[in-house]
Amino acid sequence: MKLNEKNILNFKIAIVGAGPAGYFTAQAFQKAQSDDVSFAIDMIERLPTPWGLVRSGVAPDHPKIKTVSKVFEKIAKEPNFRLFANVELGKDISLKDLRDQYDAVVLATGASKGRKLGIPGEELKNSLSAAQFVPWYNAHPDYVDVEVDLSSDTAVVIGAGNVAMDVARILAIDPSELDQTDVAEYALIKLKQSNIRTVIICGRRGPEHAAFTGPELRDLLKLENTDVFIDPKQIEEAMKHIQEMEEVEKDLKNNIKAMKAITENEKKGVPRKLEIKFLSTPIEIKGNGKVEEIVFQKNKLENGKVVATSKTFSLKTGLVVTAIGYDSIEYPGVSIENGRITNIAGHVEHNVYVVGWAKRGSTGAIGTNKSDSNDVVDLIIENLKEPKTSEGITSILKSGHEVIDQIAWEKINASEVISGEIAGKPRVKEADWKQLISLGRS
Ligand code: NAP
Repeated sequence: MKLNEKNILNFKIAIVGAGPAGYFTAQAFQKAQSDDVSFAIDMIERLPTPWGLVRSGVAPDHPKIKTVSKVFEKIAKEPNFRLFANVELGKDISLKDLRDQYDAVVLATGASKGRKLGIPGEELKNSLSAAQFVPWYNAHPDYVDVEVDLSSDTAVVIGAGNVAMDVARILAIDPSELDQTDVAEYALIKLKQSNIRTVIICGRRGPEHAAFTGPELRDLLKLENTDVFIDPKQIEEAMKHIQEMEEVEKDLKNNIKAMKAITENEKKGVPRKLEIKFLSTPIEIKGNGKVEEIVFQKNKLENGKVVATSKTFSLKTGLVVTAIGYDSIEYPGVSIENGRITNIAGHVEHNVYVVGWAKRGSTGAIGTNKSDSNDVVDLIIENLKEPKTSEGITSILKSGHEVIDQIAWEKINASEVISGEIAGKPRVKEADWKQLISLGRS
């Protein structure tokens, strides 16, 4: 191996995507440095802001989850780390160029395309994907203009996972509960004008199959201005099924316990309601130009399997939000299989690797990415041979391209936090791309 003058092997690493998976990858490289090996890490991000889903995915009423951004900023302060935000893979730089310039390229590009139900009426106005609705309320610059109509009294959310839960909660709580959060200003105004008082989450399987997690279910009982309903019969049935199982996971037991507590909890008699309905598969969305009704097929459980019955029912609603998982987007140089970038244990091809949701699909909480990134970094380090002699990103970015680097991002961050202090919020997010760039210049 070729050593530099200090006898240190210095490898250049490009990480594309500044979300949790990207930062945990950078951290794993930083931790793997030794007297013999160092890593110069360039993190490339399409948006003018980093932090990925911590900024544009995590619900504004869950600020604790966002504190992981402190870890990200610590990683970013390390001397071997550079941020290149406002740089888009496939447009401003190509994967081929990155491959040539860096010893390893790690794609941490997430999964931002909402999966579709594939049912008639899904394209009607006000039938939205969580992939639009969530970044809309989180001030993502690409989603500011999503048309969200909250004029009906009922909203239906499809899917029994934590994203469905976030969406339903944001629609069902009293918007004044979001006053002291970093929810997008324009979304807060709209939510305050909302006529929605009933939100119904619909899962196609039973409570025992729900993808919600315990803490999120337990949080529902803490809502001050919203009554939460689950049909007790569905929980009793689920408990019977669980008793018949040979082995029951702790998480499942806790989930059912939390759902049972919801059924037993005394209702407050408030106008705002959130209901979770199980065993209901959406089959058609109806309406004249916009969503007016959604039709479901009723399901039942037979020998532990969900089967369709001949019964259907429908709900009158003016808004349907689908939260049934996400797929990775395609860009030149990568192929997608089952919604993920095609890979074997994180290896894509040559010196290209993938981590996070882009690698394993849209599963797992933020922390899941840490062990996942550690494993992929171990594999990369095993495969690294001799550092390339190359210039890195500066040789491939067009001259004059406006990069948001760590210093520019810190200016944006400080400006948002200062505006937040004045308004009694953790931050006031800027949602306009050009404005974000100009804050970075200030
Ligand atoms: P998820 O946990 O995979 O849940 C997706 C839900 O959609 C499942 O209930 C699934 O039902 C349902 N579904 C899939 N295809 C469907 C179809 N064609 N028709 C009807 N229902 C369908 O996905 P997610 O909610 O998008 O969350 C992604 C990940 O982020 C999860 O790991 C989640 O825990 C995490 N997350 C965590 C938090 C938090 O910690 N606070 C917040 C948000 C997200 P089946 O099971 O029947 O397929």
